[in-house]
Amino acid sequence: MQATKCVIQSHANESLAGLLAECLIITYNGIRYAQENGIDNRKRMKRFYQTLRDTKLPSCYKVTAITRACAVIKSRNKSLRRQIEVRHPKPLRPVACIISGFFITMKGRLFIPVSRDKYADIQLNDHVVNSIQGRKVRSLTITQSLLSLCYSDDIRLAPVRAVYGVDRNEKNITFGDIDKVVRIEMKEIVRINETTREILSSFKRNDVRIGKKLTRKYWKRANNRTNQILHTATNFIVEMASKNRAALTVEDLTGIRKMYQRNNLHGPSYRFRLNSWPHWKAKRMLEYKAAWKGVTVIGLSKSETYGSSSLCSKCGEKLRSPKRGDLEHGRMQWCGNCKEWIDRDVHATLNLSTRGLARFASSLPRSKGSSQRAELQSEEKGLAIEAVKGNPVRTVILRVDASKLTRDSMSNPSVEQIKS
Ligand SMILES: [Zn+2]
Repeated sequence: MQATKCVIQSHANESLAGLLAECLIITYNGIRYAQENGIDNRKRMKRFYQTLRDTKLPSCYKVTAITRACAVIKSRNKSLRRQIEVRHPKPLRPVACIISGFFITMKGRLFIPVSRDKYADIQLNDHVVNSIQGRKVRSLTITQSLLSLCYSDDIRLAPVRAVYGVDRNEKNITFGDIDKVVRIEMKEIVRINETTREILSSFKRNDVRIGKKLTRKYWKRANNRTNQILHTATNFIVEMASKNRAALTVEDLTGIRKMYQRNNLHGPSYRFRLNSWPHWKAKRMLEYKAAWKGVTVIGLSKSETYGSSSLCSKCGEKLRSPKRGDLEHGRMQWCGNCKEWIDRDVHATLNLSTRGLARFASSLPRSKGSSQRAELQSEEKGLAIEAVKGNPVRTVILRVDASKLTRDSMSNPSVEQIKS
């Protein structure tokens, strides 16, 4: 399987600034041409490409600039179809992206074509050189101050012995299977977002330009801090999965923001909290990190995860939430069949794990993994039997704090067991 990643480096090369400006001009002209002629795909821009014959820019940039113009037109048309007003002409950021073959990396230096037979020569730093060593460099993205190299490697998927469910919640990420469930606390992210919002609302000066600058600055800082926590949490999950040869099951949460829109009977603070929940970022990080470690990721669709947090993971009974004001059972749920209170995140995780297992067993190719398939299916049957018997195995539930997790403590984290 191909695993891809990007590595960035800052640059201050003036010849690249001129190149970016030229690309931007072509993009703007391309947008105008496409609008005038009602074009939205690259094939029909052939005429426009021919008008660029006199520009001295290497043709790889011309093609990418036209591609970008078409993308902008497409997205604008989409907005118009959805009746969202498009600000026009929207200023675009100068960006150029070229695929491998047009640029060369050699002996720690990067050569980018600027004009015919003329290359910009940039010294790569050690981190970039070490990252791309022995790997296939695929593309290069140039912005005003950054170079981003995308590289890939062939990673073999490790055999799967268990399937972990990964349940993303606002204040924690819970993962594990029937033997062990680990809850990674992420309350810190909620706190950071709320503090940033408070800080920004405390500025009362009536100046839009300065206000915008401050907003950008404070949210950049907040995002850096939340990213740090998300990285440690996802690193920990992928590390554990790779160590125990487990596959990860994630659910599809697209469209969840629709639940927290205006006029949905929620207060503004509640809406803010749930709309700033970075569930998508967590999923993306999990997926790319898992790919580099050879860990299988099973993405369940919405219909496959239906009711995963409201049905009992042991007997399938509909769970009842605690009454309003019942602080003792804050995030617990009552199963009338099993006669016990169980944490809702643990339920959701176990449900995801079982459903992921079912999906994994059914998706294995018959010829290749027949023994593995049989093993997994018997395992699955075992789970089902256990469920009928009322599950004699007690799941161990552990808790880890993501903001206290460090690289050194990754293999031996300070976990505390939650009493159940
Ligand atoms: Zn039950």
